[in-house]
Order: sequence, then C-alpha cells, then structure tokens
Amino acid sequence: MAQTADAIIIGAGVIGAATAFELAKSGYKTLSIDRNPAAGYGPTSGSCAIIRVHYSTLEGTAFAYEGYFYWRDWADYLEVADERGLAEFREVGCLVMRTPQNSFMKNHIDHCDSLTIPYEIWDGAKITERLPVYDLKSYWPAKRLDDEGFGEPGKGQVKDGVFFPTAGYVTDPQLSTHNLQRAAEAKGAEFLFNKRVVEILKADGRAAGVRLDDGSEIHAPVVVNVAGPASSKINEMAGVLDDMTISTKALRQEVVHVPAPAGFDFEKNGTIVSDSDIACYCRPEHGNHILVGSEDPECDPKEWVDDEDYNQDFSDQWTVQAYRYAQRVPDLKIPRSMKGVVDLYDVADDWIPIYDRSQLPGFYMAIGTSGNQFKNAPIAGKMMAALISHCEAGNDHDADPLQFHLPYIGRDIDVGFYSRKRPINKESSFSVLG
Ligand SMILES: Cc1cc2nc3c(=O)[nH]c(=O)nc-3n(C[C@H](O)[C@H](O)[C@H](O)COP(=O)(O)OP(=O)(O)OC[C@H]3O[C@@H](n4cnc5c(N)ncnc54)[C@H](O)[C@@H]3O)c2cc1C
Repeated sequence: MAQTADAIIIGAGVIGAATAFELAKSGYKTLSIDRNPAAGYGPTSGSCAIIRVHYSTLEGTAFAYEGYFYWRDWADYLEVADERGLAEFREVGCLVMRTPQNSFMKNHIDHCDSLTIPYEIWDGAKITERLPVYDLKSYWPAKRLDDEGFGEPGKGQVKDGVFFPTAGYVTDPQLSTHNLQRAAEAKGAEFLFNKRVVEILKADGRAAGVRLDDGSEIHAPVVVNVAGPASSKINEMAGVLDDMTISTKALRQEVVHVPAPAGFDFEKNGTIVSDSDIACYCRPEHGNHILVGSEDPECDPKEWVDDEDYNQDFSDQWTVQAYRYAQRVPDLKIPRSMKGVVDLYDVADDWIPIYDRSQLPGFYMAIGTSGNQFKNAPIAGKMMAALISHCEAGNDHDADPLQFHLPYIGRDIDVGFYSRKRPINKESSFSVLG
C-alpha cells in the first residue's frame, strides 16, 4: 500500500520546514521529502541569513518587518525545545549607505515611514565612529580586477547612511531549519530524507502525490514545491509552467569570509552593511571574520547553472569581492586560502518570490526566493498554509487574491503580489536586495 499524507512538501529548507510547521499547525498531516540527508542542507545552509527590513517595494518591506519578529521571538514561535539547541539571532542592526545607486534610499525611507519602522540617519562621522576601520571614499562604478582603475577612488565620498536597528543575522541557518523540523514534528509532521521526487502524480485533474527515485508512490491531495534552485524542474514535472509569466532559475553565488583587520572586533562591534558604492554587503561572522557578499553589479557575469551540476570551487569572483571590500577597509588582510561559501539562489525574473497556487489544482509553490527570503521563512510558511487552506476550500485565488493578515504588524497584504502570473514588478531592485 502506498503511504499517504494530507500534504507533501518537496524540500526541507528553511521555507519548506516552516511551511510544514504551519500546515501541521493547521491540522494537515504533512510529509516533507528531501533528497539531502537532513533539513536545511541545501542552499539554506549556505545562506548569509541576514534579517533586514529594507526592501524596494512596500509589500516586500511589510513582509520583511513582519518576518523580523519571528526571529526576535524564536523560542516562543517554535513552542518546543530542540536537543541541538536553538539558533541564535544576533540583532546587530543594518547600515545602508545612501548613494545615487539606491536613490539615496528615498523609497525605502518612505516605506519605513508608512510602516513605522525605526531608522536613524548616520553621517560620515557617525559611521567611522562606529566602524573605525572604514574609509568612505567613493569607488563607484564597480569594476572587475583587470579593469583599468580598479581600486582607485573616484570623486567624493559616501556621505551618510540609514541605520535600521531591527536587523541582524542568524548564526546557524541550518540549525534554525532543524529547529523548525522539531517544531513541525511536535505538531505531527513527518520528514523523509535521502529520497528524491522524480514524478508528480495526478488523478482526476489534480495533484495526487509523488513518485520517489526508489519507485515508491506517496499519495496526497496537496503537493507543495519548495525545492529552491530545483523549483523549475519540479514545476516542469507537474506540467505547470504554461500559465506562469515569471520563471525561476538557479544562479551561482560566492560569499567571502575574511578576518577582520587587527585591532577591531568586527564580530562584537560590527554591523551589517549594504554598500552599493562598492557593490558589496557584509556582516560579522564567527571567529572575528567578516562575511562579504555581492550586490550583483552589472560588470559581473551572471552564472546561470544546473542546480546539480555547477562549479563548487571558488573562482576569480571570490577575489574580486574581497578586493572590492578592501577598498572600504584599507587595512583588510586578504588571506591566500579562500574561505566562504559557494551556493545557489533560485532567482525569479524580477527577484521577487512566487508564493502561489498553480494551474494544477492541489499543486502549490513557494519558489524564486532570489537570495533574499531566509528572513521571511516563518511568515512565508504561515502565508502558504493560509493560501493552501483558502484554495482547498474552493476559493479562486487567481481571480480574487487572498488578503493575508500579518499578525505582528497588524496589516493585510494582497497575496496576489507574489503571483506566478504577475507582470514583472518594475519597482524591484532586480538584485539580491529584492
Ligand atoms: C549564498 C546565499 C546567501 C543568502 N543570503 C540570504 C540572506 O542573507 N538573507 C535572506 O533572507 N536570504 C538569503 N538567502 C536566501 C535564502 O537562503 C533562501 O531564500 C532560503 O534558504 C530558501 O529556502 P527553501 O526552503 O526555499 O529551500 P532551499 O534551501 O533552497 O532547499 C530546497 C531543498 O529542496 C530539495 N530538493 C530539490 N529537488 C528535490 C527533489 N527532486 N526531491 C527531493 N528534494 C529536493 C533540496 O535538496 C533542498 O534541500 C541566501 C541564499 C544563498 C544561496
């Protein structure tokens, strides 16, 4: 006899595990399936796990601000202990340099004002008081290492930045996903590892379950695609690509870890910094290191890859990111041995995720997270559970999108914002910043 469940969730990353937790809380008997040996072992484990509140759209900002509170109140949200301990949220704040590239943060500030999100404006003196290793000369536009003039300052300085106190990072994203697994299991959810979904089963014009790589079938009336960079392959298996205006694909990324300059405890006194003048973001990392990610400048080639067949070694990209950051921190010592992460984003055409149903009744998707949805995992899970219940009750979400309540900030959002059938959202940053 085939195993059965009320809902199968393909993928046990942080959003997949949160979706399992929230569906299980709503009374679904869920089964999460992942081809990896444990929860959060895919791109979630490579995540920089930055929790920030500034986004280029009002909806994105509201969702991220709501998301922040779950990390702040992590233990209460989970309702259970984990034998491995709970993931730690370090609320170090986030400084965003104001530059012509981000229109001096005008839209972001407007969104924060309308949502009463706290922020402060830091002038150059305040920035260098807080980050004494920083030099604020301007280096825009970003260049490759072999471009003429790399590392030579242009005219002027970065004058100021916006500091958001309700921001930070989760020190161990894989552990946070294990926490969600334990929380989901406490509500009756089950997890199946080392099993690959190879087919989406259908019956009577709707999703009916999955077939695994060992040939076994698991039957369920609801199937949710939370497969990260494999999302388009799973959608193709389900035959649901036809009516989507937004596609998703895997993008390779490198993240740099370098030691902080001698004499400055960046791990203790540093903050997250998004710096479009040098096209880098950074945050404190364990062992007084600094983690440096890319803000995807136009001069960097985009490496679209197959999610299971890509170069997992560091390349020139590591070096160019490290040297770009050294423009801002002249005393930075760049070690010969490269440390950091190589992993994949699942990028949507407008870098805004798809949280939606599909043309196949019973088949749903939480995909296209574009390198910026770790922070939103708990609220995305909650919204997916509400969306699934809404659609399974017979409502037509495409014609009349669900209005979903964000409980912490007391605001409703139109879930149609995340539709697979939306036009490209021109307000997006079209980058990891969302
Ligand atoms: C380098 C990097 C840095 C990032 N930094 C940040 C950040 O600072 N802040 C932020 O908010 N977000 C960040 N993100 C994005 C964030 O990490 C992701 O949005 C989030 O982890 C996605 O979680 P997920 O549950 O969708 O799935 P993923 O972690 O992508 O996992 C998908 C799972 O699906 C499984 N799977 C796929 N196909 C199959 C199949 N056929 N059968 C069974 N299982 C399958 C995989 O094994 C995998 O475990 C970053 C991402 C990366 C890669």
